[in-house]
Amino acid sequence: MEKNNLKINSQAILEEKILNWNSVQQSFEKSFGSEIYTSWLKNINLLREYNDHVILGVKTRFFRDWITSRYADKILSELKKHKISINRLEFKIEPDESDKKTVFSNTTDNRITDIKDSTLNYNRLNPNLNFENFIVGKSNNLGFLSAKKICLEQSRYNPLFLYGGVGLGKTHLLNAIGLKLKENNKVMFISAERFMYQFVKSIKKNEMVNFKDFFRKANVFIIDDIQFIRGKEALQEEFFHTFNSLFDQSSQIIISSDRPPNKLDRVQERIKSRLSGGLVVDIGIPDYELKIKILRKKISDYQNSFKENPELQEEVINYIAKSSNSNIRELIGIFNRVVAFGKMSKKPLNVGECKLILKDIQNSNKVISIDKIQTVTSNFYSISLSEMLSPRRSRPLARPRQIAMYLAKKLTSRSLPEIGRKFANRDHTTVIHAVKTVDKISQNNEEVRKNIEEIKSLILSD
Ligand code: ADP
Ligand code: MG
Repeated sequence: MEKNNLKINSQAILEEKILNWNSVQQSFEKSFGSEIYTSWLKNINLLREYNDHVILGVKTRFFRDWITSRYADKILSELKKHKISINRLEFKIEPDESDKKTVFSNTTDNRITDIKDSTLNYNRLNPNLNFENFIVGKSNNLGFLSAKKICLEQSRYNPLFLYGGVGLGKTHLLNAIGLKLKENNKVMFISAERFMYQFVKSIKKNEMVNFKDFFRKANVFIIDDIQFIRGKEALQEEFFHTFNSLFDQSSQIIISSDRPPNKLDRVQERIKSRLSGGLVVDIGIPDYELKIKILRKKISDYQNSFKENPELQEEVINYIAKSSNSNIRELIGIFNRVVAFGKMSKKPLNVGECKLILKDIQNSNKVISIDKIQTVTSNFYSISLSEMLSPRRSRPLARPRQIAMYLAKKLTSRSLPEIGRKFANRDHTTVIHAVKTVDKISQNNEEVRKNIEEIKSLILSD
């Protein structure tokens, strides 16, 4: 009798449908579309499953609020397709380490705490990035002229959209506009990343009304690096409304981006069309002539501020302009480095020495791959690559593996999940654990710290 009972029970359990979360996720993607899916639903975890309800894990309160206010009903009806008995959803917040990184990608933790509530932080215009010391050449002439034009005649070209690669002067021009217009206007200057930060915080603290008021008061609104909003649905929604109300009240809007509006993938069409509705201007790669002009300006700045000559030979100047990359930020970096070396060696550098410095700088900008980190690290510890990636947990393998993960985190811009995938599909939590462990060990263990330094320099050399 008892035996029978048991049998029936286990049978009942077996028959009870168990959700296959992967296929649920797939159907989310199908019915919500991949945009919403990747922005919001992909990161939902199934924590507990009951007959009539499920507990779903999300990373932040903000995610939970956003998802429940918009998608809960549809999520439930999707779930019901997989398991009809479910009639309720519960969300649980399970923060994790990678959280900050995914919400504020490219933001270091330090910079987050840096941002205080004070409004001053939005408008930190740099007085040195003005029109007077912006050097004009073929590649940036149009950008320069339209930035100037905006300052004379507002809301004629609205928005002004400036785009171009890194280090070509976009932020400089935006800043110059801000400085100029600040004299007679209420200027708001913010990067898209900070806009996001402020937005998320306002939602969390229930201060969206203030947020909206705050940004909509501006009659000049300057937003830097708009490409940051790609793939971030909620942010786009808010940006769209902010844009519209500013536009409706004829506030001048100025935007920068690393690419033209039509190339902003994973951005809503209606936003792209707003962005391209005014004047779109690209800032190109500087030619030799412009690079020379910038170097000459730097030399005269140097003379003015230090009352001495930086002692650059003509052929060195030409060499720098010729062989530097197409990035003005880097060009200025090389100039500073060459001048500093010249000062140290107490004689002007020749082209040969200058070559070495340039090579050094260009190396330090080199992209480092996880493959490379794995190879160098496993060679260093005399284990094979397959041992490094294997599931075995013995210390002689686990330690090098953890160090390689640690270095992947420190030396590349890859996300934790991406790193995990490169290590035979490990979970991102494993990577977090590795980073923490190695951090801790290297604090207490001189030898490990030295080894890590050595591996690092092996990775960085050649
Ligand atoms: P972006 O925002 O396009 O990445 P930035 O505006 O930050 O580039 O410019 C990088 C650096 O190069 C800054 O120090 C900036 O002052 C300088 N710079 C860029 N373009 C010029 C220019 N035409 N004249 C003088 N300095 C420039
Ligand atoms: Mg910039």
